[in-house]
Amino acid sequence: MTEAHFATLIYRAPLLTRGLRAINADLAEECGKIRDFDVPGQRWSKDNYPGGYTSYGSMDRLHRFSSTFDTLRRRIDRHVARYADALEWDVTPDQLAMTDCWINLMPRGCAHSFHVHPQSVISGTYYVQTPRGASPITFEDPRLTKMMAAPRRRAEAVQRSHVRLKPRAGDVLLFESWLRHEVPPSRIDALRISVSFNYHLR
Ligand code: FE
Repeated sequence: MTEAHFATLIYRAPLLTRGLRAINADLAEECGKIRDFDVPGQRWSKDNYPGGYTSYGSMDRLHRFSSTFDTLRRRIDRHVARYADALEWDVTPDQLAMTDCWINLMPRGCAHSFHVHPQSVISGTYYVQTPRGASPITFEDPRLTKMMAAPRRRAEAVQRSHVRLKPRAGDVLLFESWLRHEVPPSRIDALRISVSFNYHLR
């Protein structure tokens, strides 16, 4: 018998059971306004996020700045509590606090190569707009650097070194902050809009 151990848990769920369309319309509008208003962020994105806009380098605490984002934060908190429970962490929900929250607008060609989110414990993304053909998010097997001589897997293998998830608008996706991930280049003109965030342990 073969047992699986050391699972990597990735959480995905709709933010709410209803009303997501209206919430996402409001968020998309606010994201557009932030992009138009945030000149330093436009400059930062030019150098660090070619073709797209992110507020990561300029306005990375949107939940402190906007009531819309603070409401979103409160709703995400509940999912983070559930995820921490699934991880079997010995922490109470109030010990997990959103520290950073920023937006990402990705048109054709925009990408975000592999990275981790240092200094936080849980990171994630809320999907505001995922048009048909929008890029997935790709996670890398955290053991990959240890697989020095591992043979290639069969084409139909269920166990893969990279897992591509295609969240839908209205989904919350959570992962442990050390898990490497990327968003491959967008191949569509329509904007993929997401809100990313980090949680720290208090
Ligand atoms: Fe990320």
